[in-house]
Amino acid sequence: MRSKAVVGNWKLNGSLAGNESLLRALLREIPRDTDVACAVCVPSPYLAQVQGLLTGSGIGWGAQDVSRHDQGAYTGEVSARMAAEFACRYAIVGHSERRTLFGEADAVVAEKYARARAARLTPNFCVGETLEERERGGTGEGLARQVDALLERCGAAELEGGIVAYEPVWAIGTGKTATSAQAQEAHAFIRGRIAQKDGAIAEKLPVLYGGSVKPGNAAELFAMPDVDGGLIGGASPVDEDLAGIWRAARDARKGK
Ligand code: PEP
Repeated sequence: MRSKAVVGNWKLNGSLAGNESLLRALLREIPRDTDVACAVCVPSPYLAQVQGLLTGSGIGWGAQDVSRHDQGAYTGEVSARMAAEFACRYAIVGHSERRTLFGEADAVVAEKYARARAARLTPNFCVGETLEERERGGTGEGLARQVDALLERCGAAELEGGIVAYEPVWAIGTGKTATSAQAQEAHAFIRGRIAQKDGAIAEKLPVLYGGSVKPGNAAELFAMPDVDGGLIGGASPVDEDLAGIWRAARDARKGK
């Protein structure tokens, strides 16, 4: 059975005091031993705090992005190696906000994935179509382009130890969620694309869904055979919500 995960993406939110109360509440909900991973990806200045609070718990943590460079004159960048020094397990790469607001091209995202793997992080590689692509029937084409850029740079073998997150851009932070059928179709497409290179790796690869997931809609999405959990933005820094979504993933796992 594929591993399952619920990963929170705090985005540009948090404060030392707020993080502590949020994580203490989450620690009460997530058991130390669980076969459905729960993690938070936090702004880099909070990694030390989060490491201090979560070490030894059942909750993992990670960075929201890493540089495509390892070191050097790249002001403002944080490398995968630096994130790994804070015992991060995860790093999000290629989030649509990075792709659209910061102009990250497919090839740059693939470089970041490679850096994260080299630092022994689990990259959470995000792909997703825009509304314009979906409306003109270009969803598969958009997803294939993003996945192929990664396969070309890293090879299918590097996907072992990674995670893919399908995040339709039109569903992120909008309150519009893909239907479970739309999510299943896209997840199966992504898995199938990777299977053309390596079927065994594709079969084992966790593919998470992201896009306005809430405790109330998570169960239906996670029941789909190719949906292995979620990448959660807006709901992840909200008291109780991440735990509620994680419980939906845990329950869905039992039913699969
Ligand atoms: C995200 O930012 O990865 C995301 C899925 O956001 P939201 O859950 O708010 O749509």
